[in-house]
Amino acid sequence: MLRQYELVDRVLGYDPKADEALINRAYVYAMKQHGSQKRASGDPYFSHPIEVAGILTDLKLDTSTIVTALLHDTIEDTGATMEELTRLFGAEIASLVDGVTKLTRIELTSERSKQAENFRKFLLAMSNDIRVLLVKLADRLHNMRTLHFISSPEKRQRIAQETMDIYAPLAGRMGIQEIRDELEDLAFAQLNPEARDTLLKRLNEFRASSGDIVKRIAEEFHAKLVDHGIVAEVVGREKRPYSMWRKMERRSISLEQLSDIFGFRVIVDEIDDCYRALGVLHTHWATVPGRFKDYISTPKNNGYRSIHTTLIGPEKKRAEVQIRTRKMHEVADYGIAAHWVYKEKGAGAQNSGEFANTFIWLRQLIEMLEHGSSPEEFLEHTKLQMFSDQVFCFSPKGLLITLPRGATPVDFAYAVHTDIGDTTVGCKINGRHMPLRTQLTNGDEVEIVRSQAQRPSPAWEGFVITGKARSAIRRSIRMSKQIEFARLGKQILRATFEAVGKEPTDTILERTLGPLHKGDISELLASVGDATLSAEQVLAAAYPELTLKKSSSKKGKKLNGAGTGSSVIHVSGRGQDLSMHFAHETFPLPGERIVGILTPGEGITIYPIDAPSLAEFDGDGTRWIDVAWDVDTDVPQMFPSRLRVTARNEVGALGNITSLIADYGSNINNLSMAQRDTDFYDMQIDLDVRDLKHLTRIMSALNGLSVVSSVARSRR
Ligand code: MN
Repeated sequence: MLRQYELVDRVLGYDPKADEALINRAYVYAMKQHGSQKRASGDPYFSHPIEVAGILTDLKLDTSTIVTALLHDTIEDTGATMEELTRLFGAEIASLVDGVTKLTRIELTSERSKQAENFRKFLLAMSNDIRVLLVKLADRLHNMRTLHFISSPEKRQRIAQETMDIYAPLAGRMGIQEIRDELEDLAFAQLNPEARDTLLKRLNEFRASSGDIVKRIAEEFHAKLVDHGIVAEVVGREKRPYSMWRKMERRSISLEQLSDIFGFRVIVDEIDDCYRALGVLHTHWATVPGRFKDYISTPKNNGYRSIHTTLIGPEKKRAEVQIRTRKMHEVADYGIAAHWVYKEKGAGAQNSGEFANTFIWLRQLIEMLEHGSSPEEFLEHTKLQMFSDQVFCFSPKGLLITLPRGATPVDFAYAVHTDIGDTTVGCKINGRHMPLRTQLTNGDEVEIVRSQAQRPSPAWEGFVITGKARSAIRRSIRMSKQIEFARLGKQILRATFEAVGKEPTDTILERTLGPLHKGDISELLASVGDATLSAEQVLAAAYPELTLKKSSSKKGKKLNGAGTGSSVIHVSGRGQDLSMHFAHETFPLPGERIVGILTPGEGITIYPIDAPSLAEFDGDGTRWIDVAWDVDTDVPQMFPSRLRVTARNEVGALGNITSLIADYGSNINNLSMAQRDTDFYDMQIDLDVRDLKHLTRIMSALNGLSVVSSVARSRR
């Protein structure tokens, strides 16, 4: 375990201005907080945050990041709070620790492996500060190094898969090659130990048969460069098992065919030397065509620079060679963090303190993540900016759902499954009940409250933004309508049949299916309900002998005893029934007589019996249908109505009228005025009332006002 002074020394080694006291305080605080907690390895828990901090010193990170690493598990695993950390270590560090804690919580609840790409995007989107992500990566690396202590094979497998799918690519994306390689190899050891063992065994055999070939080749390269006056360091290495395995898999080749077992790095001082070294190597050994790449003149998006070439080298062995300066070398291993350190050293005098340094390299890293992503390295083409039109939300089980910005819980429900969308009645966002039209934000945990009895509301169409939700809602409404039309059709048939002393039983209706070209009874009923088929036609098909008795219809024929018989269609209120609606601007009210008009494709349209617009259905008696109010008076319901009021042009007249209406417990929805002449105003008032009685009382009261000269209902 890294000791306190060793950690401090490491930081001071690359950042002499580091806040030593702060690191010491965090070290002691974390040790105290984690107390006697143990890791799976049996080590004190505290060894973990120290190792994580140690990994981050390799990346030469700033004091805040190192301190964050020391504290990164204190909120999640000890009694520490955000408030306390703010007090002791300042707001910046507290918010970094908070960020790491959030990522940890997501990690604990998510089924990420299946959703690697989304999850990587999510991690980026959630990490407002890239240092949070760096601490998380180091945390993962240490957990991978100690993975073998975890006893559950399933858990080891899950963690390794997640590392391979999410964290290793993230590290690569951030240009931190060392961490990427190690994460991949540790995960490989867990995920495919047989393959790894075989590879290692074959490599050992190869080494035994060829002696220390890496060293011999490196020395020969070096000697040749020295001959030409180039100062260089040549490092040979075997590739890591996983990177070999990946190449073998990708190109379906055997180990023997793999040219890239050996990699050599030629490290020089200046860029000029890179090209001179290349010239020397290419003069003395044959090159493998198609393997030359100049990433110095054209760096990779993540900042990587080097010249790559492959030679048929000494002993006729294929050797991959990377030529780079020392600075490029550090950047290749440690990413942009190293880049920053070099820049600062070069900048010398204008070094304006630790905070500014941090700021510069963070900005560079973010820039790189935004603009980076070459297809060969990452297929995902993620850019931070792209996330601004997406939100990432979770189900309570941790399923990650990506939605367009502005999406609502209804969109979320349909994105999970159509059945869930269709049965949604409410939602909880982060544990709190919220309206279904709420716009979701990044990281929201959305729990959908469902009821099998529920169907999608037509109102949802007004606020959902995903096509999937919209089309599912429409489809479901269409189906609901069919069901309601069938129910309504049944009622209409019963009324018509009872009028001639018959009953529309299923057996009798079956007989009519053939003649009326209907597939089944529910289709027949729905056709009657949506008025594409008349009840009289069904009656005639069932009892052809009755047809002769029927006289041609006139308005009023079917209105005998309206509202009394059991055969009447009941109107329970406004709007709940998809097969029934109120005629536009006719304002029927409970307490007044109403009639229904069958409208093909729409069901029943309700009119007050004295609505002027009813005149257009005179002589079309088959469309008229008996309806009656059946309003549940226990549930207060308001109905729209419209008045035309003529008032004197006096100061305060309008105030008198509106306050009187309010006094009577009615709400004004709309009011428009027109001056008729100098003495009078005409006004149209749209208001809500409980029933006809309520409206009548308001009208008499208005008539009693001295400023009012006339009051009348207004309707089409
Ligand atoms: Mn941790």
